[in-house]
Amino acid sequence: MNQNLAELIEVSRVYGKNKAFVIAGGGNTSYKDENHIWIKASGAALETIDENGFVSLSREKLKIVSTRIYSEDSVLREAEVKADLSNAIVSTGKNRPSVETSLHEIIDYPFVVHTHPTKVNALMCSLHAAEACSELFGDQALFIPYTDPGYILFKKVKSDIEAYTTKYSKVPQIIFLENHGVFVAADTIIEINQIYADIIQKIDQKIQADLPDNDQKTFESPLIEHIGQLNPGFENYSAKGVISDLIHFFAINYESFLKASTAFTPDDIVYCKAYYLFVPFFNEDQKQIESTKILVSDYQNAYGYLPKVLVLEGKGIIAIEENIKSVLNVLEVYTNILKISFLSEYFGGPKFMNKTQIEFIDNWEVENYRRKMAKS
Ligand SMILES: [Zn+2]
Repeated sequence: MNQNLAELIEVSRVYGKNKAFVIAGGGNTSYKDENHIWIKASGAALETIDENGFVSLSREKLKIVSTRIYSEDSVLREAEVKADLSNAIVSTGKNRPSVETSLHEIIDYPFVVHTHPTKVNALMCSLHAAEACSELFGDQALFIPYTDPGYILFKKVKSDIEAYTTKYSKVPQIIFLENHGVFVAADTIIEINQIYADIIQKIDQKIQADLPDNDQKTFESPLIEHIGQLNPGFENYSAKGVISDLIHFFAINYESFLKASTAFTPDDIVYCKAYYLFVPFFNEDQKQIESTKILVSDYQNAYGYLPKVLVLEGKGIIAIEENIKSVLNVLEVYTNILKISFLSEYFGGPKFMNKTQIEFIDNWEVENYRRKMAKS
C-alpha cells in the first residue's frame, strides 16, 4: 500500500476513535496527490476504516464540478453533482464518495481531516462564533457562516478560500464551518495533529468550567416499557432512558431544556431529527402515558415525523429508534448537543439551526442516504 494512504488510514482511526472529535461516525478524511484523491466513502466509519473504506477519484474529472453550470433546482442540481462525482471514481466497488468530496478537492494540501469536535462546535454553534473565531485564531483560520451543505456550500467555501488566499498569500489550513465543524489541512499528519491540538488549546482558554459529569445511568419509565402505546409508529421500536449530571442540568425544567431543544448541525438532524420533545413529568403512570401520547401526536402533526428524543422533566432523556444500535447513536448525538450547549455559554450562548436551514436538510436526499447507512 502507498505510504501516504497508510498514514491516512492511521490518522482517520485516531480521530475516529476519539469521541471528542468524531460523534456517531461523522467526519471524513482525504489524501491527494497530483492526479488522484482518496476520500472516505459515505457511510464508512473512521474508527475502523481500512483501504476499502476509501474511494479514489480522478482530480481532473472532479474539476468539472467547479466549472459546470448546474440546474437551478436544488434536487436536480445535487443529482447532477452526484453523477459527476460518480463519473470521477477510479476505484472499483460500490462505495459512494463522501458528499464533501469536492470540498476536500479544493483545499490545496495533501492531507485533509474534517471532524465535528465537541469543543470546536461549542464555538461554531454559539452566538459569538465569528467574533470569537477571529479573536482566537486571527488570520490563521477561515470562518464560513452557515451555508446549506452540498453544492452551495462547496461554491461558498471555494470563493472564500480564493478571497483568503488573495488577502493573505497562503491557503488556509483551518476552515471553520458555522453550525458544522472544522477542516484541517496540511502537508503531513504530524502537522494535522499539531493544528488540532492548537485549536483545542485555544478554545480551552475560554472555557472556564468543566462539563457536568456524563456517566449515564439507565432509568425505568412506563413510557419506555409501553413505547408502542405512545404512537402506532413506535410499534416494534426500541427505547432507552438515561440520566447523568449533564442530562439533569438540561432536563430539570422547561427553561433549561430550551437551551437544547433544537439541532445545532446537519448531523444532529440525521441522527436525532431537528426538534426534541419536552415531556412534563407525572407521578401517575397512566397519566404519564396519556399526556405523552398527546404531545407525540402534536409533534407529529407539526413536523410530519415522530420524535427520537424525549426529555422527561427531572428524569432524563428517552431515545426512541428502530433498533438498539440506532437508539445508542441517538443518545450519543443528543448528549453531544447538551455538551455543545453547555460550553457555548462561553461564547455568548447556543445558536441553533433555523427553520429554513432545517427544512433544507430534511429534504436532502444525500442525508437520507446517510440515515439509511447509519441504521444498517
Ligand atoms: Zn461534516
